[in-house]
Amino acid sequence: MTTSATRVLVLNSGSSSVKYQLLDMRDGARLAVGLVERIGEAVSRLVHTPLTDSGERRERTGPIPDHAAALKAVAEELAADGLGLDSPELAAIGHRVVHGGLRFSAPTVVTDEVLAEVERLVPVAPLHNPANITGIRTARALRPDLPQVAVFDTAFHTTMPEHAARYAIDTEVADAHRIRRYGFHGTSHAYVSRETARLLGKDPSEVNVIVLHLGNGASASAVAGGRCVDTSMGLTPLEGLVMGTRSGDIDPAVTFHLKRVAGMSVDEIDDLLNKKSGLIGLCGDNDMREIRRRVDEGDERARLAFDIYIHRLKKYIGAYCAVLGRVDAVAFTAGVGENAAPVREAAVEGLESLGLAVDAELNAVRSGEPRLISPEGARVAVAVVPTDEELEIARQTYSLVTD
Ligand code: ADP
Repeated sequence: MTTSATRVLVLNSGSSSVKYQLLDMRDGARLAVGLVERIGEAVSRLVHTPLTDSGERRERTGPIPDHAAALKAVAEELAADGLGLDSPELAAIGHRVVHGGLRFSAPTVVTDEVLAEVERLVPVAPLHNPANITGIRTARALRPDLPQVAVFDTAFHTTMPEHAARYAIDTEVADAHRIRRYGFHGTSHAYVSRETARLLGKDPSEVNVIVLHLGNGASASAVAGGRCVDTSMGLTPLEGLVMGTRSGDIDPAVTFHLKRVAGMSVDEIDDLLNKKSGLIGLCGDNDMREIRRRVDEGDERARLAFDIYIHRLKKYIGAYCAVLGRVDAVAFTAGVGENAAPVREAAVEGLESLGLAVDAELNAVRSGEPRLISPEGARVAVAVVPTDEELEIARQTYSLVTD
C-alpha cells in the first residue's frame, strides 16, 4: 500500500439497501456519505452527499436491480467528486457484518475461507448475514486488489463469560445448533464504552460502564474494564429491551401458545415478535418523538407503551449494576438515548440508592458532543455519548491494514 492511502470506504449492506461513508483516516473526516435503498424494487433511490467544500447532495431514482448495480452507482457518484474507488488513496473497504459467531472476535481481512465461515453462520443470522456477504462479494469484484475487512457486530461480546453467554438449556442441543447468546450492536458498545472512559478522563481498563444503545433496535451492555461481560441481545437481536418493533424478553412459552392456541405459523410468530411488537405493537408508533408527543397530550396507550419501555430499561440497569458490582458510568446512546431527555430522566428515576441521578438542566441540553448529565459529585456518572459505528468500523479497518 502506498503511504498516501488514507481513505476507508465503510459499507453497511442490508437486504435491500446499502449505506456508505468514505472517511479520511488522518483525522476521521467524512468525505462523502450516502444511501441506496429499495434495491431490486421498481423504483430504487440513491442519495449521495459529498462533504467536500464544493459538493452538493444528489439524488437518483430508477431501477437498481441488485447490489452489484448499487455499488457501481455509488462508485460513479464518488468518482464524480474525484473520490473514485480506483483512487490510490483508498486503503481498504470496511464491511459491517452482523454475525461473526464465536470464530470472529476481531476485525478480519476477508478471504475465501472467511467468507465461507460467514456463510456457515447464515442459519443463526438469516436476515442479516446474506446481505452482508453479497456486499462483500460485490465490493471484492469491483476492487479485487484492495483489502476488504469484515467488522462484526458480535465481536465485542465474545469476551462474555460462559455463565452469561449460555442459555440454561440442554448443552448438547445448544452446542449442536450453536445456540447461545452472541449479542449485537457490538461496534457501538465498544465505541461508546471507550468514549465514556475518555469523557471521564480515564483509561477504558479503569472503568466499569453500562452502555444503553437505544435506537430503533435497542440493547444494553455491561462493560468491565473495557471488556463486555454481559449484553441484553442473545442468539438474535430479539432478546432484551423493548424496542421499536421487537418485543425483547418474553416467556418463550408465548411462542408455543401462539402456535398451539392462536394457530400461528412459525414465520407469523417471527414476524409478530420482530416487526409488530415493541413500541409499535403496544401503541401503533415506534418513533419516540411521536410517542412523547402523544404522552404529553394524555394518550393512555402511548403512556403505557412508554412505561413498559422504561420498566424494562430500569430492570437491565439494575441487573448490570449487580453484574458489574461497581459502576462508574451509565452511557445513553443512539437515536433515543442521544435525543430523548424524558427517556433518560425516567430510566434513572428512583435509582438514587444505586448512585444514579440526572440533573434536569444538563439533561435538557441538546448537543452532538459527549457530555455528563449527572449532578456534580454524583457517585455514578450518567452520560450522553453519541455513537459512531461507521467511524469505529473505519478505524478498526484502517488499523488492521496499516499494522
Ligand atoms: P437505528 O439505527 O436502530 O435505526 P437510530 O439509532 O437512528 O436507530 O434511532 C432511531 C430512533 O431514534 C427513532 O425511531 C426515534 O424513536 C428516535 N429518535 C430520533 N430522534 C429523536 C428525538 N429527537 N427525540 C426522541 N427520539 C428520537
